[in-house]
Amino acid sequence: MSIVLERELTQNFERRMKPSVMIVEDEEALSTMLHYNLEKEGYKVTTVADGEEAAMLIREEAPDLVLLDWMLPSLSGIELCRRLRGRSETRNLPIIMITARGEEGDRIRGLDTGADDYVTKPFSMTELLARVRAVMRRIRPALSEDLVTFGDIVIDRSAHRVRRGTREVHLGPTEYRLLDHLIQHPGRVFSREQLLDAVWGSEVYVEARTVDVHVGRLRKALVEPGERDPIRTVRSAGYSLDEHFSK
Ligand code: CA
Repeated sequence: MSIVLERELTQNFERRMKPSVMIVEDEEALSTMLHYNLEKEGYKVTTVADGEEAAMLIREEAPDLVLLDWMLPSLSGIELCRRLRGRSETRNLPIIMITARGEEGDRIRGLDTGADDYVTKPFSMTELLARVRAVMRRIRPALSEDLVTFGDIVIDRSAHRVRRGTREVHLGPTEYRLLDHLIQHPGRVFSREQLLDAVWGSEVYVEARTVDVHVGRLRKALVEPGERDPIRTVRSAGYSLDEHFSK
């Protein structure tokens, strides 16, 4: 095979493999910031500021996921969402709706209309990227990335390994799943029962205090003297991964 052809095949393969996100947002500053961060995360990114134009571009480019602002010129996000759901080729297109504060009632309608998830402005980039990853993983597991980074912590899913800075962190399988689950939702507080469901599965009967034991082990493995603790214990509520840790 010629070198040129080989290179072309590799490029096509990479282009196919790189998940694409379309940002439909008329606030330029926000759109630029989203574009920058998503591209840094390895997505192929397209931005568009107008609803009608977005409808056309989505047909042409068939992105893997759409970040859709609620209020848009010419065609609202909600109307566009409805339209996309009405067409067979975009019926299952993952959509994350971006709403502004004060549209609480609208939020629910957004999900009724078929959005997969929503975020409320102002949102943290960490949270948004985690939502994007979660939707991608749910809908196209093959597209989900192998390397997940949170501050100086890196999970390599293909090798089932965890690093913090330059050192390898040795975790048992339960601690590994616990970390992987928490890292998908930075800042969200999980009760012990929720963690039991997510990490152990609802069929298994485990006492809630078992969660404390494993969180303790995870912490011990992750945090060496002088290092910051990424796990927050929320009294009488549960545990969360400290959102501010990665900043
Ligand atoms: Ca807007």
